[in-house]
Amino acid sequence: MLQLAEIFYSIQGEGTWAGTPAVFVRIAGCNLACSFCDTDYALKFFASVEDVVRMVGEAGGACPMVILTGGEPLAQAQTGALIDALRGDGRRVHIESNGTLYAELPSDVWLCVSPKERVDPRMAARSNEAKLIVDGRVPEEHLPLFAGKATILLQPEGNKPANIELALAYAKAHPQRFRLSLQTHKFIGVR
Ligand code: SF4
Repeated sequence: MLQLAEIFYSIQGEGTWAGTPAVFVRIAGCNLACSFCDTDYALKFFASVEDVVRMVGEAGGACPMVILTGGEPLAQAQTGALIDALRGDGRRVHIESNGTLYAELPSDVWLCVSPKERVDPRMAARSNEAKLIVDGRVPEEHLPLFAGKATILLQPEGNKPANIELALAYAKAHPQRFRLSLQTHKFIGVR
């Protein structure tokens, strides 16, 4: 059984795929405890892999994009089985991870790593998207791990003006490598 917080249909508000309709599967629990975390990833219900696949269909119909998020979606033993079942159901699986836990992932899975403290270098290398949270500073200590990435997203924590200003200035100073990522779903009041 998987431990879950919520399943809902919305749009991806952040990063490369911003604006794309997606079903979110929020897996309960996290292996970190970041001070700025504003995500409710508390356990709300249990479900089998098959039930989650069915609930994704009920929530989003034929929506091709499913985002496994958390908490930390790779912290549960059955996440790999869920990924395979969703792919088998014709979905494109995206994972939003803190990058601390190593997992073998199929090549068609989109992996966004947003480092908070330590990062497994294999997950940094595997990532399709690196998203650094700017909270009073740009966490440059993570940059060497993502040396091979063409683009790195800078996301101001909480859409706070001071963090936006900092991220914007950093992106403009390094335009070949950095992009601003805003939490656009919060601007329009959706989850
Ligand atoms: S890794 Fe993400 S979900 Fe986990 S505590 Fe930190 S901010 Fe929250």
